[in-house]
Amino acid sequence: LLVLSTFSGGGVLVYSDLNTVAAPTDRKKKVVVLGSGWSGYSFLSYLNNPNYEVQVVSPRNFFLFTPLLPSVTNGTVEARSIVEPIRGLMRKKGFEYTEAECVKIDASNKKIHCRSKDSSRLKGTSEFDMDYDILIIAVGAKPNTFNTPGVEEHAHFLKEAEDALKIRQSVIDSFERASLPDLTEEERKKILHFVVVGGGPTGVEFSAELYDFLVEDVSKIYPKVQEFTKITLLEAGDHILNMFDKRITAFAEEKFQRDGIDLKTKSMVVGVTADEITTKERGTGNVVSEPYGMVVWSTGIGSRPVIRDFMQQIGQGQRRVLATDEWLRVEGCDGVYALGDTATINQRKVMEDIGAIFSKADKEETGTLNKKEFKGVVKDICQRYPQVELYLKKNKMRNIANLLKSANGEDTEVSIEKFKQALAEVDTQMKNLPATAQVASQQGKYLAKCFNKMEKCEKNPEGPLRFRGEGRHRFQPFRYRHFGSFAPLGGEQTAAELPGDWVSIGHSSQWLWYSVYASKLVSWRTRMLVVSDWARRFIFGRDSSS
Ligand code: FAD
Ligand code: MG
Ligand code: MG
Ligand code: MG
Ligand code: MG
Repeated sequence: LLVLSTFSGGGVLVYSDLNTVAAPTDRKKKVVVLGSGWSGYSFLSYLNNPNYEVQVVSPRNFFLFTPLLPSVTNGTVEARSIVEPIRGLMRKKGFEYTEAECVKIDASNKKIHCRSKDSSRLKGTSEFDMDYDILIIAVGAKPNTFNTPGVEEHAHFLKEAEDALKIRQSVIDSFERASLPDLTEEERKKILHFVVVGGGPTGVEFSAELYDFLVEDVSKIYPKVQEFTKITLLEAGDHILNMFDKRITAFAEEKFQRDGIDLKTKSMVVGVTADEITTKERGTGNVVSEPYGMVVWSTGIGSRPVIRDFMQQIGQGQRRVLATDEWLRVEGCDGVYALGDTATINQRKVMEDIGAIFSKADKEETGTLNKKEFKGVVKDICQRYPQVELYLKKNKMRNIANLLKSANGEDTEVSIEKFKQALAEVDTQMKNLPATAQVASQQGKYLAKCFNKMEKCEKNPEGPLRFRGEGRHRFQPFRYRHFGSFAPLGGEQTAAELPGDWVSIGHSSQWLWYSVYASKLVSWRTRMLVVSDWARRFIFGRDSSS
């Protein structure tokens, strides 16, 4: 890319930058991948370069298809159906796998420290070090409690397969317990009060799944206690699903109200004890405590301790999330990449680079850009800086095209001042990518492709840097493509927000959702299992044994 060549962090990005370790010729470079989730699994699936020795370290020997995790909590889908064992991929690709957790990254010695799972049956834990030439951090994130007292001890999270199974077990236990003969009405009500904290996609989807379970199954299997059940959904902001289109938010809020889900917005949870959950209302400051039977906490994610420690080491201690550049290389650290929920991309600001962009575009060095130069540079910066494209879309290109016209409507050239003025606002359009499976898997695929063509690029590292044609041997920065979001709302209804401002809500999108997810499942094995789970549920209802 033209623009990239002049300033991307003060230098041209050549392949050798991506491959900072000079390995002895007789030894393959060792790539250590931390994590077997969306980003790690996607990287491993697309990596096809025999010149690397690949070692995977993850405490979980399977990939988990998280979008269907809420459906595991009520037994619509079995947990087994949405996991893909990693050993199969390892064998196919000739990669090594070690079931352990990385507990420390020692970036200056290119080592990681690992600990195996605690198992009293098998001689406890073991700890060991591992060297790497290149480290790929794909460890995801952990649920964020915002240090709210009591959450860690008393609430359920919904992040891993075992969390979903524990929730399922706990829901069924609640109904069995509430059905015991010697309880008062108050006690039954308390046990059957389910509180969901967080009105994001996961919290909403879980509430919807729970509601479906109450309506479709509990009414049949626990008819005596059904009247005592209550679902409360607490959200600190003004609305649930606030990252979605307003129409979807409104639809979801109305549906929940109709269903009798007690939706409380502007409610901040300030503490959880064994029996009560306490909220503070934003605005009024009212503090209320309510008895509950079960709390599911789903308010967002935070960095894992091992990543926080690593950030301290490399001078990123002040940041909230580990930062990479647009090639997913961790800033301030050689040979380390990070992708998925564990990292964010530090995007470049146009205004910081604007002088360089202008002089590069002004090929004839006239001090102004003619029509051709100008159109070319706008095209390039749209590619290089995603915020420009967003900005131009919002402003319908009007401001930009007008630059080529003088006050009396004649064609003119663009000066640096006009250029700056026109782009002054674009950086306000910069947004971090969302922490989603869509982003994580695209990043994994992107990085694998970079690694796949590493040698080819190393052979022609220099040469004239042209951003078209020759550019294909150089690494383009990561670009995200949004394919749409889905918010399953229960009762076989799903809201879909697709690119191009296309919103659809209802039963047809439910089927769209099924088919999109069925087609995205990683293997035919899991696809078969999920589809047969769905079919089983349609025919026989959900399994309520725990
Ligand atoms: P993960 O997929 O979480 O993978 C992290 C991996 O690292 C795991 O294998 C873990 O075991 C491993 N690991 C953890 N700690 C260590 C360590 N110390 N050392 C080594 N390995 C470690 N996104 C969507 O786009 N659409 C959806 O519909 C959707 N629904 C979701 C529903 C739920 C219930 C949840 C929880 C998430 C959902 N997401 C969805 C978000 C999506 O799952 C995440 O954005 C995605 O998993 C991020 O991928 P990742 O690779 O960064 O992390
Ligand atoms: Mg991962
Ligand atoms: Mg995952
Ligand atoms: Mg990220
Ligand atoms: Mg010129």
